[in-house]
Amino acid sequence: MADPRLTKSRFVAGWQCQKLLWWTEHEPDATELVPDKVLQDRFDQGRHVTELARLTFPGATLIPPGTDSARIEATKLALDFGAPAILEAAFAADGVFVAIDALAREGDGFALVEVKSATSAKDEHVPDVAVQAWVARQNGINVRRTEVMHLNTDFRHPDTGNLFAHTDVTAQVEEFLPRVPPLIAEFKASMAGPIPEIAIGLHCHEPRTCPFYDRCWPDDPWHISMLYRTGPKGTDTYFRQGVHSIRDLPPGQKLPAIARRQIKALETGKMIVEPTLKAALRDAMGDARVGFLDFETVNRAVPVWNALGPWRAAVVQFSYHEEAGGNKHTHLAYLAEGPHDPQAELSERMLEATKGVEKILMYTPYEHTQIKQLAERVPSMASDLKALAAKLVDMAPLLREHVYHPGFNGSFSIKDVLNPLVPDLSYNDLAIVDGMVASVEIARLLFVAHKVKDRDQLRNDLLDYCERDTWAMVRLLGRLREIAA
Ligand code: SF4
Repeated sequence: MADPRLTKSRFVAGWQCQKLLWWTEHEPDATELVPDKVLQDRFDQGRHVTELARLTFPGATLIPPGTDSARIEATKLALDFGAPAILEAAFAADGVFVAIDALAREGDGFALVEVKSATSAKDEHVPDVAVQAWVARQNGINVRRTEVMHLNTDFRHPDTGNLFAHTDVTAQVEEFLPRVPPLIAEFKASMAGPIPEIAIGLHCHEPRTCPFYDRCWPDDPWHISMLYRTGPKGTDTYFRQGVHSIRDLPPGQKLPAIARRQIKALETGKMIVEPTLKAALRDAMGDARVGFLDFETVNRAVPVWNALGPWRAAVVQFSYHEEAGGNKHTHLAYLAEGPHDPQAELSERMLEATKGVEKILMYTPYEHTQIKQLAERVPSMASDLKALAAKLVDMAPLLREHVYHPGFNGSFSIKDVLNPLVPDLSYNDLAIVDGMVASVEIARLLFVAHKVKDRDQLRNDLLDYCERDTWAMVRLLGRLREIAA
């Protein structure tokens, strides 16, 4: 059997996990490998960043798409013609094909540049760059230096600072290079053999969550990864101690009060309500009339509105419910339209909507952070926005510190707590059920509306999603008051 073909992305997949690599090779059509809307948006933004990075190499030759051999041949020609830089420079060695973002002449050799849409160089970039440098050197290219060209956090739209920053990774790459040939051999053998036995662990989360996560990890509320605030690193530590289930925890294990409440709820199968809930609700809101606020934001790799930096969130939508006496509530919403900066208009509408209340509930401090940033970006309304921020009360701690339902599965995200506490309400009837998807869809609606088939429908779906977030808070507060009483 011929050696399986490796590319730099497969090399990186193998570096994360050989089972992931094996599935990528043997099940290329697996549904898990089809990018979802959020990942596709990340790829699209990455492509845009690469296109802008290319403009910083004047006189460069871009190797066009085509077969591996045609691209390799075109690269040879560009080298022979003495191109100052070659973009998508293609090489192969030992069955590994790579296309280098930029190979720029420097003295008697070349700098190998890997373009990333991240805002810094990361450890995970080192094997990625190392395999490219190794293949290029096998082809006689004198790679003198390697760097990651990434977005610069200090850049502000439209033209404050440079959009790109450069981090030299030569030392780390040179240190990694001797590992490349044995890793190539290992990955090829692994791809050609039966599915490798790989235990779950930290590598399932790092450098990114594995697409096959749900195939490998158990769906078990008692699994140790479900323990409140354990996280990937904590789970890995427990695994090393032989603890895989919450039931395996040694007696006397030091745990946060919330995790202890979780275990008690799992053992009894019942919701735990601390007697402190009533006082906490009174302290948080007293007898004030309450509003409920939720934002949706867009995050663009390359910022498009004034004073924004790469990947900085900008508020573009809000939903606001307000108590109106009895069981009645009013509702107001805003969703930006068109590609212009909506933050001043949004601030004005939000200030108008919320002017009559003393307390406004948010779920997690996200809205507080965003309003503080709005105050910087819309200085004419800064004092009113700061006054609004002072009215905000985070609802999440009211649940976290005082209530645990076995259905929470160790999470206090609004989507995880809503259905266990308010069984007649969920997000399942909505077309959009996730904040990240909402963010990507809003960006489509604002910036590439011509590509959206049914704009009115998408707009309504987005309005429904954000409204559900604040309505969920209304219902959760009602339920908390009920159980506290
Ligand atoms: S979930 Fe973990 S063990 Fe399973 S393929 Fe992915 S990285 Fe490997």
